[in-house]
Amino acid sequence: MVVELEEHIKEADQKVINDFLASLGYKIAEVKTQKSHYLIAIGKNEFDIRKLGNKPGVMDVHRVSDEYKLVSRKWKAAPTIIDLGGGISVREGGFTMMAGPCSVESEEQISKIVDHLVDTGVPVLRGGAFKPRSSPYAFRGLGIEGLKMMYRIAHARGIKVISEVMEISQIADMFDYVDIFQVGARNTQNFNLLHELGKVDKPVLIKRGISGTIEELLQSAEYMFMSGNEKLILCERGIRTYEKATRNTLDLNAVPVLKEKSHLPVIVDPSHGIGIREFVEPMALASVLAGADGVIVEIHEKPEEAASDGQQTLNFEESGMLFKKMNDVFAMKKSW
Ligand code: PEP
Ligand code: MN
Repeated sequence: MVVELEEHIKEADQKVINDFLASLGYKIAEVKTQKSHYLIAIGKNEFDIRKLGNKPGVMDVHRVSDEYKLVSRKWKAAPTIIDLGGGISVREGGFTMMAGPCSVESEEQISKIVDHLVDTGVPVLRGGAFKPRSSPYAFRGLGIEGLKMMYRIAHARGIKVISEVMEISQIADMFDYVDIFQVGARNTQNFNLLHELGKVDKPVLIKRGISGTIEELLQSAEYMFMSGNEKLILCERGIRTYEKATRNTLDLNAVPVLKEKSHLPVIVDPSHGIGIREFVEPMALASVLAGADGVIVEIHEKPEEAASDGQQTLNFEESGMLFKKMNDVFAMKKSW
Protein backbone atom coordinates (compact mmCIF):
# COMPACT_ATOMS: atom_id res chain seq x y z
CA MET A 1 0.00 0.00 0.00
CA VAL A 2 1.25 3.49 -0.86
CA VAL A 3 0.11 6.28 1.46
CA GLU A 4 0.77 9.75 0.08
CA LEU A 5 1.26 12.24 2.88
CA GLU A 6 0.74 15.96 2.81
CA GLU A 7 3.94 17.89 2.26
CA HIS A 8 4.10 19.50 5.68
CA ILE A 9 2.38 16.86 7.73
CA LYS A 10 2.50 17.46 11.48
CA GLU A 11 4.64 15.01 13.45
CA ALA A 12 1.71 14.17 15.72
CA ASP A 13 -0.52 13.38 12.72
CA GLN A 14 2.11 11.15 11.22
CA LYS A 15 2.46 9.28 14.49
CA VAL A 16 -1.29 8.59 14.52
CA ILE A 17 -1.02 7.13 10.99
CA ASN A 18 2.05 5.05 11.83
CA ASP A 19 0.44 3.70 15.00
CA PHE A 20 -2.77 2.87 13.14
CA LEU A 21 -0.91 0.89 10.46
CA ALA A 22 1.32 -0.80 13.03
CA SER A 23 -1.75 -1.86 15.04
CA LEU A 24 -3.00 -3.64 11.92
CA GLY A 25 0.29 -5.50 11.62
CA TYR A 26 1.69 -3.45 8.73
CA LYS A 27 5.42 -2.86 8.40
CA ILE A 28 6.12 0.72 7.43
CA ALA A 29 8.83 2.34 5.36
CA GLU A 30 8.96 6.11 5.13
CA VAL A 31 10.03 7.56 1.79
CA LYS A 32 10.88 11.20 1.09
CA THR A 33 11.71 12.09 -2.50
CA GLN A 34 12.43 15.33 -4.37
CA LYS A 35 8.71 15.59 -4.98
CA SER A 36 6.70 13.91 -2.25
CA HIS A 37 6.44 12.15 1.07
CA TYR A 38 5.10 8.61 1.26
CA LEU A 39 4.59 5.71 3.64
CA ILE A 40 4.91 2.26 2.17
CA ALA A 41 2.91 -0.19 4.25
CA ILE A 42 3.66 -3.86 3.77
CA GLY A 43 1.05 -6.28 5.03
CA LYS A 44 -2.13 -8.09 4.15
CA ASN A 45 -4.66 -7.29 6.85
CA GLU A 46 -7.97 -6.14 5.51
CA PHE A 47 -9.40 -2.93 6.94
CA ASP A 48 -11.74 -0.12 5.98
CA ILE A 49 -9.45 2.05 3.88
CA ARG A 50 -11.52 5.13 4.68
CA LYS A 51 -10.27 4.95 8.26
CA LEU A 52 -6.81 5.70 6.91
CA GLY A 53 -7.83 8.05 4.12
CA ASN A 54 -9.74 10.27 6.56
CA LYS A 55 -6.81 10.86 8.88
CA PRO A 56 -5.30 14.37 8.92
CA GLY A 57 -2.16 14.56 6.81
CA VAL A 58 -3.14 11.77 4.39
CA MET A 59 -3.49 12.90 0.80
CA ASP A 60 -4.28 9.58 -0.80
CA VAL A 61 -4.09 5.83 -0.23
CA HIS A 62 -3.47 3.27 -2.95
CA ARG A 63 -3.46 -0.49 -2.65
CA VAL A 64 -0.57 -1.87 -4.72
CA SER A 65 0.03 -5.58 -4.56
CA ASP A 66 3.14 -5.58 -6.81
CA GLU A 67 6.57 -6.27 -5.30
CA TYR A 68 7.54 -2.84 -6.56
CA LYS A 69 5.10 -0.19 -5.42
CA LEU A 70 6.42 3.32 -5.96
CA VAL A 71 7.34 2.74 -9.59
CA SER A 72 4.04 0.96 -10.27
CA ARG A 73 1.39 2.48 -12.47
CA LYS A 74 -1.23 1.10 -10.13
CA TRP A 75 -1.08 4.19 -7.95
CA LYS A 76 0.24 6.81 -10.34
CA ALA A 77 -1.50 6.74 -13.68
CA ALA A 78 0.11 10.02 -14.77
CA PRO A 79 3.40 9.32 -16.52
CA THR A 80 6.58 10.61 -14.93
CA ILE A 81 8.24 13.39 -16.89
CA ILE A 82 12.01 13.69 -16.67
CA ASP A 83 12.80 17.34 -17.22
CA LEU A 84 16.41 17.87 -18.27
CA GLY A 85 16.09 21.65 -18.57
CA GLY A 86 16.44 23.80 -21.67
CA GLY A 87 13.18 22.47 -23.05
CA ILE A 88 14.49 18.89 -23.17
CA SER A 89 12.63 16.08 -21.45
CA VAL A 90 12.15 12.33 -21.49
CA ARG A 91 8.49 11.48 -21.33
CA GLU A 92 5.55 9.52 -22.57
CA GLY A 93 4.16 11.22 -25.63
CA GLY A 94 7.61 12.41 -26.69
CA PHE A 95 10.55 10.66 -28.31
CA THR A 96 13.99 11.57 -27.00
CA MET A 97 17.05 10.50 -28.95
CA MET A 98 20.35 10.01 -27.18
CA ALA A 99 23.49 9.21 -29.13
CA GLY A 100 27.23 9.22 -28.83
CA PRO A 101 30.27 7.01 -28.65
CA CYS A 102 30.51 3.94 -26.50
CA SER A 103 33.59 5.52 -24.88
CA VAL A 104 34.77 9.09 -24.62
CA GLU A 105 38.12 9.05 -26.44
CA SER A 106 39.28 12.57 -27.28
CA GLU A 107 38.26 16.20 -27.52
CA GLU A 108 38.24 16.02 -31.30
CA GLN A 109 36.01 12.95 -31.26
CA ILE A 110 33.48 14.57 -28.93
CA SER A 111 33.48 17.92 -30.78
CA LYS A 112 32.67 16.23 -34.08
CA ILE A 113 29.93 14.13 -32.53
CA VAL A 114 28.39 17.14 -30.80
CA ASP A 115 28.37 19.04 -34.13
CA HIS A 116 26.61 16.05 -35.68
CA LEU A 117 24.02 15.92 -32.88
CA VAL A 118 23.31 19.63 -33.23
CA ASP A 119 22.95 19.27 -37.01
CA THR A 120 20.59 16.31 -36.71
CA GLY A 121 18.50 17.54 -33.76
CA VAL A 122 19.58 15.01 -31.12
CA PRO A 123 19.40 16.63 -27.68
CA VAL A 124 21.39 14.18 -25.51
CA LEU A 125 25.00 12.98 -25.88
CA ARG A 126 25.92 9.58 -24.47
CA GLY A 127 29.50 8.54 -23.75
CA GLY A 128 31.20 6.32 -21.22
CA ALA A 129 34.04 7.85 -19.24
CA PHE A 130 34.17 4.91 -16.84
CA LYS A 131 33.81 1.76 -18.91
CA PRO A 132 32.74 -1.65 -17.60
CA ARG A 133 34.63 -4.03 -19.87
CA SER A 134 34.37 -7.79 -19.77
CA SER A 135 38.12 -8.03 -20.43
CA PRO A 136 40.46 -6.27 -18.00
CA TYR A 137 42.82 -5.62 -20.94
CA ALA A 138 40.24 -3.61 -22.91
CA PHE A 139 40.08 0.23 -22.90
CA ARG A 140 38.49 1.32 -19.66
CA GLY A 141 37.76 4.97 -20.38
CA LEU A 142 39.29 8.39 -19.77
CA GLY A 143 37.69 8.77 -16.34
CA ILE A 144 36.54 12.01 -14.81
CA GLU A 145 38.71 14.25 -17.03
CA GLY A 146 37.04 12.72 -20.08
CA LEU A 147 33.63 13.36 -18.58
CA LYS A 148 34.42 17.01 -17.80
CA MET A 149 35.60 17.56 -21.35
CA MET A 150 32.49 15.92 -22.77
CA TYR A 151 30.19 17.99 -20.56
CA ARG A 152 31.95 21.25 -21.42
CA ILE A 153 31.72 20.66 -25.18
CA ALA A 154 28.14 19.39 -25.10
CA HIS A 155 26.79 22.12 -22.83
CA ALA A 156 28.41 24.86 -24.90
CA ARG A 157 26.03 23.73 -27.68
CA GLY A 158 22.94 23.12 -25.52
CA ILE A 159 23.30 19.34 -25.55
CA LYS A 160 22.68 17.26 -22.40
CA VAL A 161 24.98 14.48 -21.18
CA ILE A 162 24.37 10.92 -20.01
CA SER A 163 27.26 8.80 -18.72
CA GLU A 164 27.65 5.59 -16.78
CA VAL A 165 28.43 5.56 -13.09
CA MET A 166 30.04 2.32 -11.95
CA GLU A 167 30.54 2.80 -8.26
CA ILE A 168 29.43 4.87 -5.31
CA SER A 169 32.69 6.80 -5.05
CA GLN A 170 32.16 8.23 -8.57
CA ILE A 171 28.75 9.77 -7.84
CA ALA A 172 29.98 12.94 -6.16
CA ASP A 173 32.76 13.52 -8.72
CA MET A 174 30.40 13.02 -11.65
CA PHE A 175 27.44 14.93 -10.24
CA ASP A 176 28.25 18.32 -11.78
CA TYR A 177 29.16 16.84 -15.18
CA VAL A 178 26.14 14.71 -16.08
CA ASP A 179 22.49 15.45 -16.73
CA ILE A 180 21.60 11.78 -16.39
CA PHE A 181 23.50 9.08 -14.52
CA GLN A 182 23.47 5.75 -16.38
CA VAL A 183 23.44 2.49 -14.45
CA GLY A 184 24.84 -0.22 -16.70
CA ALA A 185 23.53 -3.72 -17.17
CA ARG A 186 26.29 -5.12 -14.98
CA ASN A 187 25.20 -2.93 -12.08
CA THR A 188 21.42 -3.22 -12.28
CA GLN A 189 21.41 -5.21 -9.06
CA ASN A 190 24.20 -3.37 -7.29
CA PHE A 191 21.81 -2.38 -4.55
CA ASN A 192 24.33 -0.30 -2.62
CA LEU A 193 24.95 1.81 -5.71
CA LEU A 194 21.21 2.10 -6.34
CA HIS A 195 20.62 3.19 -2.76
CA GLU A 196 23.17 5.98 -3.09
CA LEU A 197 21.78 7.08 -6.47
CA GLY A 198 18.44 7.33 -4.72
CA LYS A 199 19.85 10.15 -2.64
CA VAL A 200 20.87 12.38 -5.54
CA ASP A 201 18.71 15.00 -7.18
CA LYS A 202 19.57 14.04 -10.74
CA PRO A 203 17.85 11.72 -13.23
CA VAL A 204 19.08 8.13 -13.45
CA LEU A 205 18.66 5.82 -16.43
CA ILE A 206 18.78 2.21 -15.32
CA LYS A 207 19.44 -0.54 -17.80
CA ARG A 208 17.95 -3.99 -17.60
CA GLY A 209 20.39 -6.55 -16.21
CA ILE A 210 22.15 -8.92 -18.60
CA SER A 211 20.02 -11.81 -17.37
CA GLY A 212 17.45 -9.72 -15.56
CA THR A 213 13.71 -10.07 -15.71
CA ILE A 214 11.34 -7.17 -16.25
CA GLU A 215 10.24 -7.46 -12.64
CA GLU A 216 13.83 -7.32 -11.42
CA LEU A 217 14.39 -4.13 -13.41
CA LEU A 218 11.34 -2.58 -11.76
CA GLN A 219 12.50 -3.69 -8.34
CA SER A 220 15.90 -2.10 -8.97
CA ALA A 221 14.20 1.14 -9.93
CA GLU A 222 12.13 0.82 -6.76
CA TYR A 223 15.35 0.80 -4.72
CA MET A 224 16.25 4.23 -6.02
CA PHE A 225 12.74 5.62 -5.62
CA MET A 226 12.63 4.25 -2.04
CA SER A 227 15.84 6.09 -1.30
CA GLY A 228 14.40 9.36 -2.56
CA ASN A 229 14.90 9.66 -6.31
CA GLU A 230 11.78 9.78 -8.48
CA LYS A 231 13.64 10.93 -11.59
CA LEU A 232 14.08 7.51 -13.15
CA ILE A 233 14.21 6.18 -16.72
CA LEU A 234 14.01 2.46 -17.58
CA CYS A 235 16.11 1.07 -20.41
CA GLU A 236 15.73 -2.19 -22.34
CA ARG A 237 19.16 -3.15 -23.74
CA GLY A 238 18.80 -6.79 -24.59
CA ILE A 239 19.21 -9.86 -22.45
CA ARG A 240 21.37 -12.93 -22.62
CA THR A 241 19.57 -15.91 -24.09
CA TYR A 242 20.61 -19.16 -25.80
CA GLU A 243 20.73 -17.24 -29.11
CA LYS A 244 24.28 -16.66 -30.30
CA ALA A 245 23.66 -15.03 -33.69
CA THR A 246 23.37 -11.62 -32.03
CA ARG A 247 25.23 -10.07 -29.10
CA ASN A 248 22.07 -9.97 -26.99
CA THR A 249 18.39 -10.59 -27.58
CA LEU A 250 16.65 -7.22 -27.66
CA ASP A 251 13.43 -7.87 -25.81
CA LEU A 252 11.02 -5.39 -27.34
CA ASN A 253 8.24 -7.18 -25.47
CA ALA A 254 9.58 -5.37 -22.44
CA VAL A 255 8.59 -1.97 -23.82
CA PRO A 256 4.79 -2.26 -23.74
CA VAL A 257 4.98 -4.41 -20.61
CA LEU A 258 7.09 -1.85 -18.73
CA LYS A 259 4.89 0.98 -19.98
CA GLU A 260 1.85 -0.79 -18.66
CA LYS A 261 3.39 -1.72 -15.32
CA SER A 262 5.18 1.53 -14.54
CA HIS A 263 4.68 5.26 -14.84
CA LEU A 264 8.40 5.73 -15.63
CA PRO A 265 9.58 6.51 -19.17
CA VAL A 266 11.09 3.62 -21.11
CA ILE A 267 13.87 3.88 -23.64
CA VAL A 268 15.58 1.28 -25.80
CA ASP A 269 19.26 0.69 -26.53
CA PRO A 270 19.28 -1.16 -29.86
CA SER A 271 23.08 -0.91 -30.15
CA HIS A 272 23.82 -3.23 -27.23
CA GLY A 273 20.51 -4.98 -27.85
CA ILE A 274 21.59 -6.53 -31.12
CA GLY A 275 25.29 -5.67 -31.28
CA ILE A 276 25.55 -5.62 -35.09
CA ARG A 277 25.79 -2.29 -36.91
CA GLU A 278 23.61 -3.23 -39.91
CA PHE A 279 20.77 -4.30 -37.66
CA VAL A 280 20.67 -1.34 -35.31
CA GLU A 281 18.42 0.67 -37.62
CA PRO A 282 15.55 -1.84 -37.95
CA MET A 283 15.56 -2.48 -34.21
CA ALA A 284 15.64 1.25 -33.43
CA LEU A 285 12.66 1.81 -35.73
CA ALA A 286 10.87 -1.16 -34.19
CA SER A 287 11.47 0.40 -30.75
CA VAL A 288 9.54 3.49 -31.83
CA LEU A 289 6.61 1.34 -32.88
CA ALA A 290 6.82 -0.74 -29.70
CA GLY A 291 6.07 2.45 -27.78
CA ALA A 292 9.49 3.48 -26.47
CA ASP A 293 9.82 7.05 -25.21
CA GLY A 294 13.28 7.31 -26.74
CA VAL A 295 16.40 5.47 -27.82
CA ILE A 296 20.07 5.54 -26.97
CA VAL A 297 22.43 4.59 -29.79
CA GLU A 298 26.18 4.36 -30.24
CA ILE A 299 27.68 6.56 -32.97
CA HIS A 300 31.22 7.53 -33.98
CA GLU A 301 32.78 9.41 -36.88
CA LYS A 302 34.83 6.31 -37.71
CA PRO A 303 33.28 3.28 -36.04
CA GLU A 304 36.06 1.01 -37.27
CA GLU A 305 38.48 3.06 -35.14
CA ALA A 306 36.29 3.25 -32.02
CA ALA A 307 38.00 2.26 -28.78
CA SER A 308 35.03 0.05 -27.86
CA ASP A 309 31.91 -1.44 -29.44
CA GLY A 310 32.80 -0.32 -32.99
CA GLN A 311 31.00 -3.38 -34.39
CA GLN A 312 27.64 -1.99 -33.27
CA THR A 313 28.38 1.71 -33.82
CA LEU A 314 26.83 3.79 -36.61
CA ASN A 315 28.78 6.38 -38.58
CA PHE A 316 27.45 9.89 -39.15
CA GLU A 317 25.73 9.08 -42.41
CA GLU A 318 24.00 6.01 -41.00
CA SER A 319 23.00 7.72 -37.78
CA GLY A 320 21.79 10.87 -39.57
CA MET A 321 19.47 8.71 -41.67
CA LEU A 322 18.32 6.79 -38.63
CA PHE A 323 17.47 9.93 -36.63
CA LYS A 324 15.39 11.20 -39.52
CA LYS A 325 13.61 7.88 -39.95
CA MET A 326 12.87 7.60 -36.24
CA ASN A 327 11.34 11.08 -36.25
CA ASP A 328 9.26 10.14 -39.29
CA VAL A 329 8.07 6.88 -37.75
CA PHE A 330 7.27 8.63 -34.47
CA ALA A 331 5.25 11.32 -36.27
CA MET A 332 3.43 8.67 -38.27
CA LYS A 333 2.65 6.69 -35.12
CA LYS A 334 1.31 9.80 -33.38
CA SER A 335 -1.07 10.42 -36.23
CA TRP A 336 -2.71 6.99 -35.93
C1 PEP B 1 27.21 1.16 -22.60
O1 PEP B 1 26.17 1.83 -22.62
O2 PEP B 1 28.24 1.44 -23.25
C2 PEP B 1 27.19 -0.12 -21.84
C3 PEP B 1 28.30 -0.62 -21.31
O3 PEP B 1 25.96 -0.66 -21.81
P1 PEP B 1 25.39 -1.93 -21.01
O4 PEP B 1 25.52 -1.59 -19.56
O5 PEP B 1 23.98 -2.02 -21.50
O6 PEP B 1 26.22 -3.11 -21.41
MN1 MN C 1 29.02 0.19 -25.56
